[in-house]
Amino acid sequence: MSNIRFNFPAPVIDASVDRLRQEVRAFLREEVKRGSFEPVTDCWCAGIDTEFSRKLGQQGWIGVTWPKIYGGREWSALHRYVITEELLVAGAPVHAHWIADRQSGPLILATGSETMKRKVLPRIAAGECFIALGLSEPESGSDLASVRTRAQRVNGGWEINGTKLWSSGAQVCQYMTVLARTGERDAANRHGGLTQFLVPLDAPGVSVRGIQDMSGVEHFNESHFDRVFVTDEAVLGQEGEGWKQITSELALERSGPERFLSTFVALETAFQQCAQDLQGRQATVMGMMVARLRALRAMSFGVAALLSEGKSPDVEAALVKDLGTRFEQDIIEGLREFWPIRLKQPFGDELHHLLSDSLLRQPSFTLRGGTNEILKGIVARGLGLR
Ligand SMILES: Cc1cc2nc3c(=O)[nH]c(=O)nc-3n(C[C@H](O)[C@H](O)[C@H](O)COP(=O)(O)OP(=O)(O)OC[C@H]3O[C@@H](n4cnc5c(N)ncnc54)[C@H](O)[C@@H]3O)c2cc1C
Repeated sequence: MSNIRFNFPAPVIDASVDRLRQEVRAFLREEVKRGSFEPVTDCWCAGIDTEFSRKLGQQGWIGVTWPKIYGGREWSALHRYVITEELLVAGAPVHAHWIADRQSGPLILATGSETMKRKVLPRIAAGECFIALGLSEPESGSDLASVRTRAQRVNGGWEINGTKLWSSGAQVCQYMTVLARTGERDAANRHGGLTQFLVPLDAPGVSVRGIQDMSGVEHFNESHFDRVFVTDEAVLGQEGEGWKQITSELALERSGPERFLSTFVALETAFQQCAQDLQGRQATVMGMMVARLRALRAMSFGVAALLSEGKSPDVEAALVKDLGTRFEQDIIEGLREFWPIRLKQPFGDELHHLLSDSLLRQPSFTLRGGTNEILKGIVARGLGLR
């Protein structure tokens, strides 16, 4: 076995980060009081409210790490972390802008043309422009390098043909980052020949159709691209470099607090119900949840610290996602021992509503963003075991 060790450094939190946390908390308390939203479970996927995203943009809380000339605030990854953490803990409806803030914005910043950066990034930061992720296809999920969506050079640009599946939130997005084949895949380089494009979803030939999940929410979509024309300006980075770009996006996609806080609102509500009389097995089970939460948070914060230092900790991020997503599922399994879920009966109180909603959503936690089997493979490779 190699000597590789995981690195989760404890970040130094300065007063401005703590002040920001208090500001975000106060804002959210006020929004709840005003009835602007009701806390939902899995809010970063199921809670879509473009107006709420716009409000966050007006607060200056989207794209905060980006340069000021592109609408950002030049804050650290830790500032961004506390904003996202507070939004998740509150169960706020943040899905509309989530992907653009978390990964498409940074991708555009790293690989987009100057014109694209000036056109798109300030609108994302204002909470007015949303971007969907076009990676998966009907026959390509874990083995993403097998995508069949094709982009061919034509006069003045590219023509895109193919289908993307499971694109979260695409129904409210103005753009999708589309991974397409622009060259052949060969035995020597099975990840070669892929290019990413920023495709406007109102372009002729694009159609987006909602897919209902088990909980009845249409949060993801099937999108068809039929002879869709884009100019060279739509290419993200270099032709054929798509795979490299995706792997560097993954540390951003996999390590954030959304990978262990999706069901936190249910846990907190349960604690509020039993705090006065917590004892015996229930105290043990809930105490263990808090201990796991603390450990995961320290690890996820460690990844944010590494990102702040400009590193790309994709192995640590894969470990956070593997452990974190199993934890958010275990919360529901643990709580239902004491608060049984009866799906076909009218909901009782808020906790039963949150629990039954979580139960229907939890299978997706260990699939989206890369399945846990794939993540274990990445961790094993990082440890030199394969
Ligand atoms: C709620 C939700 C939102 C999503 N949002 C998006 C989105 O916005 N954009 C997007 O592009 N995609 C999105 N996805 C798709 C997601 O990334 C894929 O579902 C995921 O990568 C798995 O791919 P698949 O569904 O094709 O399963 P498959 O790849 O077919 O996997 C099926 C099973 O086989 C296992 N398996 C596959 N290969 C291996 C291997 N090499 N070793 C061991 N086991 C293996 C998997 O772990 C899994 O258990 C979303 C999915 C969900 C559930």
